[in-house]
Amino acid sequence: MKVRSVAKSVIIGFTGAATILAANCNDGKAVKLVRAYSQIVACKDNHIIFQDGTKMLYDDGRTKSFWQLLNQPDIEDMFYYPYPRGRGSFAPPKGDPGRIRHEPLFRKIYGDSAAAVKRNLVTINWFGKLVRVTRVNGVAKHLMAVQRELRALPKSYWKFLSPIGGTFTWRYIAGTKRLSVHSFGAAIDINVKYSAYWRWSRGRGYSNQIPHEIVEIFERHGFIWGGKWKHYDTMHFEYRPELF
Ligand SMILES: [Zn+2]
Repeated sequence: MKVRSVAKSVIIGFTGAATILAANCNDGKAVKLVRAYSQIVACKDNHIIFQDGTKMLYDDGRTKSFWQLLNQPDIEDMFYYPYPRGRGSFAPPKGDPGRIRHEPLFRKIYGDSAAAVKRNLVTINWFGKLVRVTRVNGVAKHLMAVQRELRALPKSYWKFLSPIGGTFTWRYIAGTKRLSVHSFGAAIDINVKYSAYWRWSRGRGYSNQIPHEIVEIFERHGFIWGGKWKHYDTMHFEYRPELF
C-alpha cells in the first residue's frame, strides 16, 4: 500500500522522526471508527477522513512501550487493548482498554478548547442533580437512556449512582499532561463514595464495589467502564462506541 509521508499529513499525534512501516485501513478497527462517529467518513491511504475533508494519520507503524502507547498513541493504538464484554469481563483487569486515546481525535470531534466544548454542552438531570454533558454524538441522549434503565434497577443500586461525582471539567488526568475525557463532556463519574481509583489504592491492588448490572447498562449505550482498567477508576464511564 502506498503511504503518505508524515510531513504531508494534516494533523499528526506526535512529533519527531517516525518511520511508517505499515498503513492499514483494512484492519477491522478503522471501520469501527467510521461506524461509531458521524464525523468520520472513511479511512483511506492510512488516514482517517473527516466530514469536513480534513485528515489524520491512522497508523504511524511504530512499535511502542506502554508509556508511548499512553503518551504518543496514533489512532490505531486506541484499539490496542480490546474492551471485554460479557461473562468473565469483571475479573481483575490485565490491560487498560480505552485508556489509550489519540487526543487530537477527541479535540476534533468534541471541541478543541474548553470554550468550543462548552458550546455543545446541554444540561441533564441525573438522579435529581443538574449536570452538563455534550450533545455531540448524542452523548446527552445516551446518558438519559442509561438513566432510564438504571432507575428500573432496585433502589438499593441508586446509592452507587447518586450523588454524581461529576461530568464536564476541562482538565488533565491526575499526574499527566493528557486531557481527561471529562474535558469533552463525554464522561461521567458516579458516586465517589463507593469507588476505587488506582492512585488512591497505595498498592493494595484492584478492588470494586460497583455492581455489574450498572456497568452492563452503560455498556449497552456505548460507555466503557474504568473498572475494566488495570489502572482502575471504578466511578468512571466514558462514551467510546468504537470499542464495542
Ligand atoms: Zn472520571
